[in-house]
Amino acid sequence: MESVDAAGKHLFYVFEGERIVHVHLGRYGSFVSEPSPPSPAKGQVRMRIVGPEVTLDLRGPTQCRVIDEETRVSIVDKLGPDPLAGGKRADFLANISKSNKPIGGLLLDQSVIAGIGNILRAEILFETAIDPNRAGKDLTPDEFSRLWRSLSKMMKVSLKHGRIISVTAREAGKPLTKLADKERFRIYGKSECPRCGGAITQTPVASRKLYACPQCQDIKN
Ligand SMILES: [Zn+2]
Repeated sequence: MESVDAAGKHLFYVFEGERIVHVHLGRYGSFVSEPSPPSPAKGQVRMRIVGPEVTLDLRGPTQCRVIDEETRVSIVDKLGPDPLAGGKRADFLANISKSNKPIGGLLLDQSVIAGIGNILRAEILFETAIDPNRAGKDLTPDEFSRLWRSLSKMMKVSLKHGRIISVTAREAGKPLTKLADKERFRIYGKSECPRCGGAITQTPVASRKLYACPQCQDIKN
């Protein structure tokens, strides 16, 4: 293998001779590791990468296929800016500032911004105290700036730690490397708001369940 590149939620494993394996984990895909040499694969392993010390098995991805460079370019061209790959703030602004769609849906649209899933959008909208139902075009310049700052920072912290984290070490009272799984989020999967103590609601926005605090995010029904 020559390299692995990420663009939004797409992974590209580049092998000699421009052969590329395109992987999209989707909601259920994951890599499972075991020491090398590996035991025979059990169940559906879509791709196995055997290294000198560790073997990685890919299970349950939405996409795992061999593509050529042309196909990779067309996939990446359709994506919105990815803040983890030098994506531009101005492109994100252009993609939302004329849209009538709710910001809660726009954040999940990979052609608007690449790399945000259901957990991150809830955490970003809560941190920035923005009502997920508001249209992209109605966000103020200040709200837009907060949104870009929040999502860039959260994505970088999550990349660094290899899992989504929205809390700060100060809030958690411990280093981010020591967080238990359910301590990583402020709002996702929670029932009580950490800021105001009110009840967290779960309502579908863009057909995915979105956790939000009606008080802190000033949600109008
Ligand atoms: Zn609240």
